[in-house]
Amino acid sequence: MPLSIEEISKLNDRHASSSVEDLVAAVLGLDPGHTTLALSLSVEDTVLLHVLSQAAKALGVQAHAFALDTGRLPEETYQVLDEVRQKYSNVTIDIYFPDAAAVEKLVRMRGPYSFYESIENRKECCHIRKVEPLKRALASKTAWMTGLRREQSVTRADISLFERDETQGGILKVSPLAAWSESMVYDYAKAHNVPVHPLHRKGFPSIGCEPCTRAVQPGEDIRAGRWWWENADQKECGLHAS
Ligand code: SF4
Repeated sequence: MPLSIEEISKLNDRHASSSVEDLVAAVLGLDPGHTTLALSLSVEDTVLLHVLSQAAKALGVQAHAFALDTGRLPEETYQVLDEVRQKYSNVTIDIYFPDAAAVEKLVRMRGPYSFYESIENRKECCHIRKVEPLKRALASKTAWMTGLRREQSVTRADISLFERDETQGGILKVSPLAAWSESMVYDYAKAHNVPVHPLHRKGFPSIGCEPCTRAVQPGEDIRAGRWWWENADQKECGLHAS
């Protein structure tokens, strides 16, 4: 049974000053078997995976995470995935792929680079390769955690620690790093020896599909390298639609 808006509001009040460790442990403790963490393998996500792994050990429960393999990820993302699978082996990491027939039809009809031609085409590709697999990843879940931070983009400036995800049947969506700055994330990763995606060191503050992500210039917005041919207020793939 999804939590009500009032219950979620109380969670936001209760955890407004909680540490990320306490917050993740509290979320995991609610319903461990039906709680999961979304992994793009960015540093925010590997930090949360570290915290989740520690919380699972402390609580004596099995934790779950998942990644969406769109078929267009950079090679470095698979390397990080392999590394964290071994390092955080007490967390089950499931991989979800897009529907093969849908991808075959998409590429047959529109070619391999349709996303550059229009926003509609880009959203169609994101829907097939990300949004539909996400639905399957969350189908039996009551809560999911993400590494979203408010300062990442104008589309994320208003996120709360706890939200009701109406696009996923009203399940709980938790963003423990909502208020964190980029430097807080890197300080935590360094202090706890958390794997950091190698593309971050090459000017990629945000990690996505290879053909839709590029390095940013100093001073540019964190997500300027994602779908750089689109306006900033339209740059979400549908995974985090409000
Ligand atoms: S980010 Fe680009 S390649 Fe990846 S699913 Fe979206 S449009 Fe397709």
